[in-house]
Amino acid sequence: MTTALFTHPASLEHVTPEGHPERVDRILAIERALSAPEFDALDRRSAPPAARAALLRCHPPEYVDRVASAAPEEGWVALDGDTHVMSGSYEAGLRAAGGAIAAVDAVLDKDATNAFCALRPPGHHAERATAMGFCLFGAVAIAAKHALEARGLSRVAVVDFDVHHGNGTQDLLWEEARATFISTHQSPLYPGTGMRKERGAHGQILNLPLPPGTDGTAYRPVFETRVLPALRQARPELILVSAGFDAHAADPLAQMALGTEDFAWIAERLCDVAGDICAGRLVSVLEGGYDLTALAESVAAYVAVMMARGQERQGND
Ligand SMILES: [Zn+2]
Repeated sequence: MTTALFTHPASLEHVTPEGHPERVDRILAIERALSAPEFDALDRRSAPPAARAALLRCHPPEYVDRVASAAPEEGWVALDGDTHVMSGSYEAGLRAAGGAIAAVDAVLDKDATNAFCALRPPGHHAERATAMGFCLFGAVAIAAKHALEARGLSRVAVVDFDVHHGNGTQDLLWEEARATFISTHQSPLYPGTGMRKERGAHGQILNLPLPPGTDGTAYRPVFETRVLPALRQARPELILVSAGFDAHAADPLAQMALGTEDFAWIAERLCDVAGDICAGRLVSVLEGGYDLTALAESVAAYVAVMMARGQERQGND
């Protein structure tokens, strides 16, 4: 048993317009980095498509149908200013959500110690009936609902360290008392949500906006003193992570200043707390990250920690 890596060629068939930051090359860069010998032990899996019933736990049927049928035969249609769909987009969206669900199943079934999903498009900006911010379906929230509704867990948590606020995840989980949502993000920045006063219908949401320029030295204490205690207090049976790597200093879409080593540190802390409170059950889902070199290095550093911690854990069991 080791770390599972979920991918699918459909992630390469959602082709965005020339110059769009959320592009096929992101996955190619990650796959190249994860092809190094140190990642040979990854349990590589193909992401299945999400079942319609799983999508409907978060999105109304009219919305799912709209995404399914929006693409023209050739070229793109824009669902919002920066979210485009073309012929391959619906399948890619289904596999991105389905991969997150399968990752939850693998970890709950003890088929994997933990799991990383390297799929696109990302999902954390997609609201109930609104595609936005490059996102079609709220994969992490859909996976959280799957864990609660289909797998019978009583509590889950989602940690979102993407530089942008996960407004979609927040929208999809706003009423869900069994799901704790904790987000660190730059503010002000797109999409403009994620203020501290946004707490969810049950006070189960914790937003931690951070100023532009926040580097690792400033970020780590916030994670130590706010994110981790909130996670421990929530006592989830599974931790899901919206793993966006666009808080990296090199990222062109934001102004935070984390380094590759900070993402490895985040992975260590998340693996530690998962080990303490939920038998190491940790599922990470790719969100943003738009500088290809920084993205590939950061994902590699993050996944290497997941593998090492999973192995240690297995040694202890
Ligand atoms: Zn982002």
